Amino acid sequence: MPAYEFPGGIYPPERKARSNQSPLQAAPLPSQVTLPLKQHAGNPATPCVVVGENVNVGSLIAQRNGMISAHLHASISGTVTHVDDTAITIEADGLDRWETLPPLDWRTAAPAALLERLESSGLAGLGGAGFPTHIKAKVAEHNVIDTLVINAAECEPYITADDLTLRHYAADVLEGAQLIARLCGAQTIVIGIEDNKPEAISALTQALSQMQHPATIALKVIETRYPSGGERQLIKKVLNRDVPSGGLPADVGTLCHNPGTLLAAFHAVRDGKPLVERIVTLTGDAISRPGNVWVRLGTPVASLLKGAGLDPHQLHQVIVGGPMMGTPLTTLDTPVTKTTNCLIAATLAELPPAPVESPCIRCGACELVCPAQLLPQQLHWYARAESDSTLETLNLFDCIECGACSFVCPSFIPLVEDYRSAKQRIRLKQIESAKAEHAKHRFEFRQARIAREDAEKKARRQARLAHTQKSAPSSAGDDAAPEADLRSLRIAQTAAKAAVKKAEKVLARAAEQAPKQRFEDLETQLATAQENLKAAEARLAEARANATQKDSTI
Ligand code: SF4
Ligand code: SF4
Repeated sequence: MPAYEFPGGIYPPERKARSNQSPLQAAPLPSQVTLPLKQHAGNPATPCVVVGENVNVGSLIAQRNGMISAHLHASISGTVTHVDDTAITIEADGLDRWETLPPLDWRTAAPAALLERLESSGLAGLGGAGFPTHIKAKVAEHNVIDTLVINAAECEPYITADDLTLRHYAADVLEGAQLIARLCGAQTIVIGIEDNKPEAISALTQALSQMQHPATIALKVIETRYPSGGERQLIKKVLNRDVPSGGLPADVGTLCHNPGTLLAAFHAVRDGKPLVERIVTLTGDAISRPGNVWVRLGTPVASLLKGAGLDPHQLHQVIVGGPMMGTPLTTLDTPVTKTTNCLIAATLAELPPAPVESPCIRCGACELVCPAQLLPQQLHWYARAESDSTLETLNLFDCIECGACSFVCPSFIPLVEDYRSAKQRIRLKQIESAKAEHAKHRFEFRQARIAREDAEKKARRQARLAHTQKSAPSSAGDDAAPEADLRSLRIAQTAAKAAVKKAEKVLARAAEQAPKQRFEDLETQLATAQENLKAAEARLAEARANATQKDSTI
């Protein structure tokens, strides 16, 4: 397969050798975990345990709330000691008792059972955005997907979690990919991996040679260049497909998953293991034992880094993720979540603060490296001028915040910070203007709920009447509901089903495009469509019961 090019890109110092030389290990079991209710795109989960309750590893402790959300499970066995609107805390009993689901075979299990398993296991993308996996797996309902891309590029400096995942679990990752390919209908799987991971490439080559696979799997080794792990960039690189501005990979028949997510999906199906742990890279010059470890979710960053030999006197800052796109931590009490792929405990010399910025000299360096073909210097001017309509015209929201432009800027302008705050400001404005619309939608939801309750009440009454009529035919004739047009009701039901599907699609697409946002209004619109569907079904049931009753009286 030929290699294609995405524009721009840079070659930052790698520093992966610091963590990819040690064997993969399990971090010690934490004595306490704090599990945030929002570790994924969409709505936070809703707690379903109370303080004092005993739980096992894998016990469901919070249920998904709305369509874009994910279940949350206990990551240690012990006692729930705190529950609030944001997190659940569990004290360990040290027994590490597990609670798993029955094993499934992805080749023979029904797709509905596999989807249900992904959902009940609380799976969310482990690559960064945390999009619920069961929603992504349903993409075939709205798009034709021909290719699943395994995003093994791992282009950020320092991070080696995917590399170690592939070295140790190449065959399982490929099984996970086939499972997802089966669900989304992809006939081809392409693994995109940078050439700086020779051991992972060799593990994949060996696993491929031994694999019985229904989908065609191709291994595509690409040059090491940042940010080839961006979805659009990788899809261009390995498939020569251009994801349109404002679009998604599904628009060009493609789905992307990172190796950790595929491994978790396979383990959830084969072993019935919910998502309670993940592989995290521990690195940076302020720790003496860098490497990759299996970590239970909710483990405090402080104890994890201490176990890796943290020298607090050397520590300048801890970054979650890579140095290009990661975020600095304000406190080490922060827990590891489903999206924590790397912790860099950096010294001051290692990641010094950026020098003071100076004015833009219009050198154009930022434009040359932008992988999204944007005009970074213009975005910078208009962001600072708060010229939001121009920013949207310049496709600000196509910016993947890769930081390549900031990296090369000789004036040390924090370009990505400008873009992030501009995006935030624009989103807040959109939320403000959507509030009035939301009030209207909430009113519509209330009306739909009342209509549904009314329809269900009538349907129950009619069913009772039909039942009574069977045993005492002469008494019910006057109370029978007016004859309904069954055909129109069936059409109404079909239309209501279509409305639900459409609302689901709009919500899933919005959440995938901006996973860090909340989508209360779209969730309300979906809930309204669902209420309307239930009402349509109740009316149909009532009409059928009415027809049955009528037949029996003739
Ligand atoms: S941060 Fe945005 S504007 Fe800058 S190079 Fe990356 S995609 Fe382009
Ligand atoms: S790289 Fe910096 S100085 Fe050069 S054009 Fe871009 S913003 Fe201006």
